[in-house]
Amino acid sequence: MIRRLSFVATIAALSVAPARRITAQSFSTDDAVLKRIWAIGMDSSQTMHLSQVLFDSIGPRLTGTPNATGANDWLVRTYKSWGVDARNEQWGKWRSWRRGASHIDLIAPRVRSLEGTMLGFSPGTGGKDLTATTVILPRFADSTEFVKWLPSARGKFVLVSAPQPTCRPREDWQTNATPDSRERMDSVRAAVAREWGGRDVRGTGYSLAIGTGELGLRLEEGGVAGVITSRPKDGWGTIEIFSTYNKRAPAIALSCEDYGLLFRLTENNQGPKLRLNLDAQPLGDRPVFNTIASIRGSEKPDEYVVLSAHFDSWDGSSGATDNGTGTITMLEAMRILHEVYPHPKRTILVGHWLGEEEGLVGSRAFAEDHPEVVKGLQALFNQDNGTGRVVRMGGGGLVNAPDHIRAWLAKLPPELQKQVDFQGPGFPSGGGSDDASFACYGAPAFGLGALPWDYFNYTWHTNRDTYDKIVFDDLKSNATLTAMLAYLASEDSTTVTRERVDLAALAAARAAQAPASSTAAPARFRAPTTWPVCTKAPRITEPRLK
Ligand SMILES: [Zn+2]
Repeated sequence: MIRRLSFVATIAALSVAPARRITAQSFSTDDAVLKRIWAIGMDSSQTMHLSQVLFDSIGPRLTGTPNATGANDWLVRTYKSWGVDARNEQWGKWRSWRRGASHIDLIAPRVRSLEGTMLGFSPGTGGKDLTATTVILPRFADSTEFVKWLPSARGKFVLVSAPQPTCRPREDWQTNATPDSRERMDSVRAAVAREWGGRDVRGTGYSLAIGTGELGLRLEEGGVAGVITSRPKDGWGTIEIFSTYNKRAPAIALSCEDYGLLFRLTENNQGPKLRLNLDAQPLGDRPVFNTIASIRGSEKPDEYVVLSAHFDSWDGSSGATDNGTGTITMLEAMRILHEVYPHPKRTILVGHWLGEEEGLVGSRAFAEDHPEVVKGLQALFNQDNGTGRVVRMGGGGLVNAPDHIRAWLAKLPPELQKQVDFQGPGFPSGGGSDDASFACYGAPAFGLGALPWDYFNYTWHTNRDTYDKIVFDDLKSNATLTAMLAYLASEDSTTVTRERVDLAALAAARAAQAPASSTAAPARFRAPTTWPVCTKAPRITEPRLK
């Protein structure tokens, strides 16, 4: 009751208070360009319109698919309509595929349409219904035992994912469960994760990474009807949807709830039958592109300020926050810059990379194909962690970067200055997003770290990454901030040098301070102890089973 009352009171207060102009800009600057960037970015933002077209009408952008190429073409058209030079640059060929409709129905022992969809690149059912019974992947002593079991699964749908003991998020258990009951649930969850996780799923010798992996292919060779998966997040109704390498046996992802239902019906011998009707079309290997747009530098055309965000997504929904919002940030920043700063000192270039989800492939290929950009890089700003406003920046592991970044930040409006916590020289990105493709050369590549807005439980790689999750006030502010940083980096009278921090010494200092901390964080979030090494970008889809 109290919560409700205070909510009503807040609304009442808001409705009588004079509307505060949230766009009122309070910083004092003589810089006409910064003033105009603010005015255009905050008062006549195009982020909403651009997002609606991209996420609702075009949709997801799975690398290799015609949808992604269509989206590349839309980007080029959009830039050209503003008068910005843009092109699609091919970096390789990738497996291609068209996603059609997924119809997934339980038809026995009762009828229910299930919440689920094909994995990316799944074979379809050839315009027909595919009906079969189900079997749970047993626990095997070793892969020989798995091979012996395979014939018994012929013609059946195989359930290969963990049966979750609860589809309620942890937060709900923390709020409502008795301590005993919560502890019990935690330990059951941990046991289930141990039993079904890892690279050797249930003793088969094969993994499901990332989707159905090698295990899916072995099951397909064994003649199963299809592979049923579920990768729920720690949230209500969200699952991750990745891809399969299967060519004949379809692979689908079900919600936590419907997978659990099917699992229990199978486990209890209640005769479940599943009917799939999946429309999909493999399209062979097709060219894949990054979209590149640029405004040529007037004084130092061979030095570059790069706006960076991957454009591809998984295709379980619209890829709105991964990485639609990074995309729109850079697109809108470029629109603003073209309008207010058409003759930059250094060349301003934006890279909308494909193949990020497959291992930063498009950006690595671009860095290989454009050594002149890597060599002349003054600053690269990458954004790829959701819709939130940018709250963190580091110096990419370069000793000289903080002098520059601090000077740029000092010129920003106080609203933006306050919001960004600059963390000093920091570390080079070792992976996770496309700044790593440039940081490995020792180039100044900076990640713009956003506020999470429950990214990991709700939108990252999920079936719920849609237009409605975008926080437009934050997105608008990010585009404005990025345009300002690009302008300031371009105008900087000196160039960011490439002297590196001593990563080994920093690691030793950290270890001396907190000996346990190095084991606490998962490897991908751990600070690197040696400078990351650049690896060659694959220019074709590599086979899953070699
Ligand atoms: Zn991403």
